Amino acid sequence: MKECKADAKIETKCLHAGYTPKNGEPRVVPIVQSTTYCFDSTEHIAQLFDMPTEFMYSRFANPTCDAVEKKIAALEGGAGAMLTSSGQAASLLSILNLCSAGDSFISASTIYGGTVNLFSVTLKKLGIECIWVDADASEEELANAFKPNTKAVFGETLANPALTVFNIEKFARLAHQNGVPLIVDNTFATPILCRPIEFGADVVIHSTTKYMDGHAVQGGGVIVDAGKFDWAASGKFPEFTEPDESYHGVVYTRDFGPMAYIIKARMQLMRDFGCYPAAHSAFLLNLGLETLPVRMKQYCENALKVAQMLEKSDKVASVNYPALPGNPYHEAAKKYLPDGTSGVISFSIKGGREAAVRFMDSLELASNVVHVADIRTCVLHPASATHRQLTDEQLAAAGIDAGMIRLSVGLENVDDIMADVTQALEKV
Ligand SMILES: *Cc1c(COP(=O)(O)O)cnc(C)c1O
Repeated sequence: MKECKADAKIETKCLHAGYTPKNGEPRVVPIVQSTTYCFDSTEHIAQLFDMPTEFMYSRFANPTCDAVEKKIAALEGGAGAMLTSSGQAASLLSILNLCSAGDSFISASTIYGGTVNLFSVTLKKLGIECIWVDADASEEELANAFKPNTKAVFGETLANPALTVFNIEKFARLAHQNGVPLIVDNTFATPILCRPIEFGADVVIHSTTKYMDGHAVQGGGVIVDAGKFDWAASGKFPEFTEPDESYHGVVYTRDFGPMAYIIKARMQLMRDFGCYPAAHSAFLLNLGLETLPVRMKQYCENALKVAQMLEKSDKVASVNYPALPGNPYHEAAKKYLPDGTSGVISFSIKGGREAAVRFMDSLELASNVVHVADIRTCVLHPASATHRQLTDEQLAAAGIDAGMIRLSVGLENVDDIMADVTQALEKV
């Protein structure tokens, strides 16, 4: 077999990128269930501790995970990628690779609730300040948010659950004018619907627990490095351009060029935090990735029909789905998500929190779960679940009201999904 071509179409990459079996090797990416690897000399192992160029220990690398990392890097158009044991771990490490105590970073306020908590509570305890901004503010206003110690900018392509569409080009421009990289959480869009690197993002992260896996069988995350940010020219990142004493003087930009960010993340952060997934999880994630293009297409098709139906219902106060004409992010969606805006819809039922709960408890096919972006239709009430820790003010900033329901349309026949939603609405 020949290696998957760099210019192959994305459907082809989903199946072939990252793993090329040689003569007599398994067709399917094998699960390498071994924590460690053999070397014939002490000297060889000593060298690996200076420069880990081969697999040596499962806390930071594994051949099964490696194949999936290469596939996701290819899908996003990045130079390299690193899997993590959850999406939260990916968000955390993506920031810690840039910020130390005393630094700040800017984040759009319409992002996933778990990330809001990580940024505003836990990172604060570590001495890292998150400066929250309204992603739709003018470029001048946003430029004022930068401080001399600001080291990164963060946003979500298609925010969970606000479903706002992030103006990636605007934020990339602002970040680069200030000499810092843009990190984009691309979980809901997946590289099938949007590839943020093509719009200027420097780092892309995912919760692979969602669409990438799609079957609700593994939890994971990934960080992708575009390999384009010029750390030396910025002058703000001495950790990239000066010797790392914890690796006998490795200089990431000098020694790894466009892979500086992702290799630093693995060598420093994964080594020390150890939030690396098991090979079996990566194997399951890979199965999900193989069918991602067909699934994303169908999620979008089903969700659009359900959104159109909800829009017509007199029980529904508002429907938020960017692919609907009239949605405030419809134009942005046409640019960043031209093939559809995923299977996730948020909508508010007339009657607020009580009506929302009544609707959810009346569903027969859709499951009431703490999950989203699954192959099965599911619902969640953000105000009492994922966003429970947020104050009313933070809820509003995240684009959520108490009666809002997040409906994740799955791949059942769309007529059955619509019938279920209709009968539950009738009970409200
Ligand atoms: C779920 C989610 C996360 C967190 O991922 P986990 O795998 O649950 O840790 C981060 N960002 C977004 C957009 C998510 O939907």
